[in-house]
Amino acid sequence: MTEQAADMELSRETGQPSAAGAERAAGVTGTTAGPAIAAAIPRLRQICGPDAVLTDPLQLRTYECDGLTAHRCSPGLVVLPESAGQVAAIVAECARAGIPFVARGSGTGLSGGALPRADGVLIVMSKMRRIITIEAASRRAIVEPGVTNLAVSKAAQPFGLFYAPDPSSQVVCSVGGNVAENSGGAHCLKHGFTVHHVTGLEIVSPQGELTWLGDGTGMSPGYDLVGAFTGSEGTLGIVTKIVVKLTRIPEAVTTLLAAFETTGQGGAAVSAIISSGILPGAIEMMDALAIEAAEAAVACRYPEGAGAVLIVELDGPAADVERETAAVRAICEQAGSTEIRAAHDAAERTAIWTGRKSAFAAVGRISPAYIVQDGVVPRTALPDVLDKIAALSAAAGIRVANVFHAGDGNLHPLVLFDDAIPHACAAAEELSGAILDLCIEHGGSITGEHGVGVDKSRYMPKMFGADDLATMQLLRRAFDPAGLCNPGKIFPTPRMCGEVPGIRRDPHPLVAAGEVEQF
Ligand SMILES: Cc1cc2nc3c(=O)[nH]c(=O)nc-3n(C[C@H](O)[C@H](O)[C@H](O)COP(=O)(O)OP(=O)(O)OC[C@H]3O[C@@H](n4cnc5c(N)ncnc54)[C@H](O)[C@@H]3O)c2cc1C
Repeated sequence: MTEQAADMELSRETGQPSAAGAERAAGVTGTTAGPAIAAAIPRLRQICGPDAVLTDPLQLRTYECDGLTAHRCSPGLVVLPESAGQVAAIVAECARAGIPFVARGSGTGLSGGALPRADGVLIVMSKMRRIITIEAASRRAIVEPGVTNLAVSKAAQPFGLFYAPDPSSQVVCSVGGNVAENSGGAHCLKHGFTVHHVTGLEIVSPQGELTWLGDGTGMSPGYDLVGAFTGSEGTLGIVTKIVVKLTRIPEAVTTLLAAFETTGQGGAAVSAIISSGILPGAIEMMDALAIEAAEAAVACRYPEGAGAVLIVELDGPAADVERETAAVRAICEQAGSTEIRAAHDAAERTAIWTGRKSAFAAVGRISPAYIVQDGVVPRTALPDVLDKIAALSAAAGIRVANVFHAGDGNLHPLVLFDDAIPHACAAAEELSGAILDLCIEHGGSITGEHGVGVDKSRYMPKMFGADDLATMQLLRRAFDPAGLCNPGKIFPTPRMCGEVPGIRRDPHPLVAAGEVEQF
């Protein structure tokens, strides 16, 4: 026991450390940390070392939000572990003391998934950023969760390999965060999402046990727990090692930029390309407002006056790429393209991608504030849905810039507003919600890749019935019966999700029928 802990003042009623005594003993001043957290600090300092436990309110504020800044909350405490063993010990301590905990990677999430809790511990994974092995012969790598997405591809490049899922935030976002969000990216149309590239996960369970899901081959028998964990938004445990597949760098790549007068023409070209049997590495679209923003931010020199641009990237064996490039050109021309440019080398390719990859941030050049929405529609519904978004935008008098992974039907409408104007944010939120309603009406989804987090939990009942949500809860509770692991995320109401630790009072129909057991 540390000297501080030995000196701790005990509450007369409970015999437990009192809030004031525990906070004083732990050297916590001015935080809102409750007694349970304050009492845990000496042990957490033993586990991680004193410098890796942050209690200063100013330092804590650094972590108050992720990329979705509308939701903010200073964490009760931040810990920065350096090893899987430390993460396991931290989580075991939280489980023992009944303290909620949240994992955080790089904090680039756009749905408030890493939003901390004032009564909880935020476990920041950024010190765990080793690439443990690159096994070129078996085309896989084992990495720690804090390693950035792009760092994996850079490390694999000398072996002629790369890590295919490529979120636009790849320079900074962590592979652990990618696993939690099942992140996508421009090239996921052909190469698949994160879940298609992860074959094994070392995790710390919400009880603090270190264990492996999957055996690293992607072919282990039994339930697909790697699949269940990937995309679970940090609610089933904390990832401490990841086995990822590596893909061969393609022999040839051609990037085309096709300009159209309207997004409808661009959308029609997308459907025609896919129905012709060609599967490009990426098909991205930007509308006129998004092009204007990108032009202002990075001078990407896209064709002047374009109402929409498509970026189509073809990769693979050189002969296939040459044939498919000609076919895609013909399809775009037929759909009414006014100009088509091709990049054949890395510099030209970067020039085309710069506008697209900077699009979210670029919108800051044309609007003081904006909401990044993320929804999905079937590809064939793209022209119709884009027209309807334009109509909603006109009716509300709010500008919407569209940037999207067109090949996947994954829309990112950017709803622009001026936060200095009263109620402008609420009106933008309303329009943003109406766009999600459109996605659902057209058979799509409320999120393609940014996750539900806190931001979209209220939309979950629009997509799922009460029984569906309750069934998802059974999975969550199987991993985390105490409800301490990233509570308050994904599910809409306390009653539905049982965010208050404990089990539902009314039995789920499957439980009542004796078909499944509730813990
Ligand atoms: C400019 C910009 C562009 C983006 N482009 C894309 C894109 O193209 N595609 C896309 O999919 N997303 C995109 N995103 C969203 C975001 O980058 C991804 O969701 C990314 O995977 C988040 O990683 P992170 O390390 O920042 O995670 P965080 O934001 O820190 O956390 C995200 C979630 O993961 C959980 N988590 C983090 N680490 C762990 C761990 N080790 N174990 C368990 N749970 C954990 C957190 O609790 C939280 O729920 C973009 C974001 C920005 C700001």
